[in-house]
Amino acid sequence: MSEQNKYMMGEDRIPKSWYNITADLPAPPPPVLHPGHGGPIGPDDLAPLFPMALIGQEVSTERHIEIPQPVRDIYKMWRPTPLYRAHGLEKALGTTARIFYKYEGVSPAGSHKPNTAVAQAFYNKQEGVTKLSTETGAGQWGSSLAFAGGLFGLEVKIYMVKVSYQQKPYRRALMETYGAKCIASPSTETDSGRAILAAHPDSPGSLGIAISEAVEVAAKNPDTKYALGSVLNHVLLHQTVVGIEAIEQMEMADAYPDVVIGCAGGGSNFAGIAFPFIGKKLRDGKDVRVLAVEPAACPSLTRGVYAFDFGDTGHLTPLVKMHTLGSEFIPPGFHAGGLRYHGMSPLVSHCKELGLIEARAYHQNPCFEAGVLFARTEGIVPAPESNHAVRAAIDEALKAKQEGKATNILFCLSGHGHFDMQAYTDYFAGKLVDQDYDPKELEASLAHLPKVAAE
Ligand SMILES: *Cc1c(COP(=O)(O)O)cnc(C)c1O
Repeated sequence: MSEQNKYMMGEDRIPKSWYNITADLPAPPPPVLHPGHGGPIGPDDLAPLFPMALIGQEVSTERHIEIPQPVRDIYKMWRPTPLYRAHGLEKALGTTARIFYKYEGVSPAGSHKPNTAVAQAFYNKQEGVTKLSTETGAGQWGSSLAFAGGLFGLEVKIYMVKVSYQQKPYRRALMETYGAKCIASPSTETDSGRAILAAHPDSPGSLGIAISEAVEVAAKNPDTKYALGSVLNHVLLHQTVVGIEAIEQMEMADAYPDVVIGCAGGGSNFAGIAFPFIGKKLRDGKDVRVLAVEPAACPSLTRGVYAFDFGDTGHLTPLVKMHTLGSEFIPPGFHAGGLRYHGMSPLVSHCKELGLIEARAYHQNPCFEAGVLFARTEGIVPAPESNHAVRAAIDEALKAKQEGKATNILFCLSGHGHFDMQAYTDYFAGKLVDQDYDPKELEASLAHLPKVAAE
């Protein structure tokens, strides 16, 4: 076994195609339903929101989808990303396990999100779109789309969840530096925002509300399309560059993972690292455990129901079948802003139903404890979202130690926490509360799930 720390590859190893797991699944994912008539939607229903190329990818059953050369050329700015062996962390834990992590924080925006932002900006530009609207939670997606839109000369307008807008002024400054306009959501700019403010003037906002605002702007303006940073099939598809590269780097390390771990908000970095490994399992029978980790305050995969639901609070989006807490669910204002979404990607949800993945939820204090240990042993300060994956990786390593096993653990370190240092300051000051969601609020939200005939 090599004692190498870092597995790097040249630009020529950037994948030439994305991997579409739909081609290998034993059962097709459920259809997407029209919010009006309740029947399956067609490409025309989505055309006001997305360019045709992305709609095509959304419903594609092709196993490999070619990455356009201009997108690969931009990927060269930071891809292939490094895969590290966490020798320092392993030593601190005294574990018999080998811990590897794929580090996506080396991208210009500091997370995995530019992997899809660049692809989405490219296809929109190619189809003549001039403006993009979107939402952002912690600001990671907003800054990624601001960066990518800027490269292609697109105007980008971003509705940022109000609590994050207030907590993360530097993320907003980053979006503005890349040339985007950033608005606190709920805002008075849209019908959806005004309706929320009328009912809840002090609303901290949520991703569901911000999505309604961004979708409304795209639906009402022919020159504007909408971009989503997670959840949808095409977003997960673009993120598979993470797992495809990781398979090759784990080969360089001469260690196939026994368990692959990712934190899950909408599910995109998790799917990005996990789907290529699940594909190998489905095609070649190469066994691997796959673990999605979510916050206990917004536990869609572990506590939500698997049902058709809206993607947003204003009920403008199509109905997708997913693990959901209900589109009216507003999680407590905890720090991992990128994990505050009420639902889970339909493809990840489907994989959960098929028994291909496991899910686990953690409170934020144990996650920050893990993140601090990681920073002190590996040098990288993880994003609060990524700390969930770090926590799970540590727990798996401690379990391996107890059992005396040489388990190979691979996790996605989805981003760095340089813009989230206030959260670390609050953690050190003992100010982070391990808030649970309010069960009554969850019950009320689930009572309003849309009734769907197809079920
Ligand atoms: C947005 C974000 C997440 C959560 O989004 P997914 O779509 O679930 O990956 C996780 N980590 C970081 C660093 C993020 O920016």
